[in-house]
Amino acid sequence: MTYDFDLFVIGAGSGGVRAARFAAGFGARVAVAESRYLGGTCVNVGCVPKKLLVYGAHFADEFEQASGFGWTLGGKPDFDWATLISNKNREIQRLNGIYRNLLVNSGVTLLESHAKVVDPHHVEVDGKTYSAEHILIATGGWPQIPEIPGHEHAINSNQAFFLKELPKRVLVVGGGYIAVEFASIFNGLGADTTLLYRGELFLRGFDGAVRKHLKEELSKSGINLQFNADIVRIDKQAGGSLQATLKDGRVLDTDCVFYATGRRPMLDNLGLENTKVALDERGFIAVDDQFQTAEPSILALGDVIGRVQLTPVALAEGMAVARRLFKPEQYRPVDYQHIPTAVFSLPNIGTVGLTEEQARDAGHKVAIFQSDFKPMKLTLTSSQERTLMKLVVDVDSDKVLGCHMVGPDAGEIVQGLAVALKAGATKRIFDDTLGVHPTAAEEFVTMRTPVGA
Ligand SMILES: Cc1cc2nc3c(=O)[nH]c(=O)nc-3n(C[C@H](O)[C@H](O)[C@H](O)COP(=O)(O)OP(=O)(O)OC[C@H]3O[C@@H](n4cnc5c(N)ncnc54)[C@H](O)[C@@H]3O)c2cc1C
Repeated sequence: MTYDFDLFVIGAGSGGVRAARFAAGFGARVAVAESRYLGGTCVNVGCVPKKLLVYGAHFADEFEQASGFGWTLGGKPDFDWATLISNKNREIQRLNGIYRNLLVNSGVTLLESHAKVVDPHHVEVDGKTYSAEHILIATGGWPQIPEIPGHEHAINSNQAFFLKELPKRVLVVGGGYIAVEFASIFNGLGADTTLLYRGELFLRGFDGAVRKHLKEELSKSGINLQFNADIVRIDKQAGGSLQATLKDGRVLDTDCVFYATGRRPMLDNLGLENTKVALDERGFIAVDDQFQTAEPSILALGDVIGRVQLTPVALAEGMAVARRLFKPEQYRPVDYQHIPTAVFSLPNIGTVGLTEEQARDAGHKVAIFQSDFKPMKLTLTSSQERTLMKLVVDVDSDKVLGCHMVGPDAGEIVQGLAVALKAGATKRIFDDTLGVHPTAAEEFVTMRTPVGA
């Protein structure tokens, strides 16, 4: 049997584009279908626009700090949301073009429309059916808003990037990194911001000291943090503002309710019922360690399999699939250990490896090295922001199990530390590494006394 394509990829996001480009580079005949936007979530409504908005929000602090260094700014700085959004949109359009070129120049056939699987070897796009030896589902995820009364008045992260104006008051709902980041964005840009989370403390899964430190810092920055709180209904008021009623009976007035309470796999009208593809207990596509679904000709990767929902992970999975199918001699499994991550709250979090809690739960006897200090840049300012750094070390092997930071540029700093952890660095190696002076990062190689010693 001959097929139209060796590989048909559904979804031109981080994972799909990576798999398609490299598969084509290895000589495969590849098609990609994309129904919305080239580059997927990350480029259009995720990492990239989010980071641009975080940069925008941080200027508020910088303007304030500038006076300590002798600068006088003419009057109160004024912010224009429309300018930021239109400049952001222009940059994203540029990136969409780059993604198009990447695909087309690698010889991939690009179909810019919705794709539906009609059987294990056929995909339908715009009424036309294409055959493929392998089908790769890389359709990503979609934000979810709980169906409480009035949920239609709330917005999700996709919509937040295209708001016509910056709301005066915002209620951000959720305890994950997207909620925390957007709270910092809205707050930094001047909105009166409340972050509401139903649990005890946000950022479950992050190191306990990091979570507590960020809680302090976000409070200091002016965000109203409401834990153990949940909205039961949202009502629109005559003037257009919103009223959120909480479980405990409190009523909060606001102009915008923004939900960041999780993402579901994007399976809408995908045609999986025409195949043997199975879902796991959480509703994501179930795959084995080589991204193979229950249907032999169909693979899946990225957010739609719900393992670790981050762009570099989807990229690594895309690379692994391309190699396994078309360059098996270069195949390497994806290593899910030591995935460095950042939360672009203000201040940032950077983290790699085990948290103290995970290390203890895994049976390690640990030594904790921790430092909490005012960053040098802020010493000439009235800012009360403090930086936290923490190392989790296995006492028996001396291996550094985890590095955690809250502070400016934490995401940048943790990337290098991830290389060290992946290489199996011990605390002794950290101690023997010379610092870069004067930086905040050098603290990671100068912490000598364990907590409690
Ligand atoms: C607000 C936000 C901030 C984020 N920030 C970060 C960050 O800072 N760092 C980080 O690493 N990750 C971040 N992420 C996560 C990151 O964006 C995702 O992990 C990544 O995009 C997943 O890639 P993917 O290829 O699995 O799916 P996606 O990038 O979502 O791509 C899937 C594509 O498939 C298309 N599609 C879906 N169904 C069909 C169909 N039937 N036919 C044709 N096309 C279809 C979609 O339109 C989409 O373009 C963020 C996510 C969000 C929402």
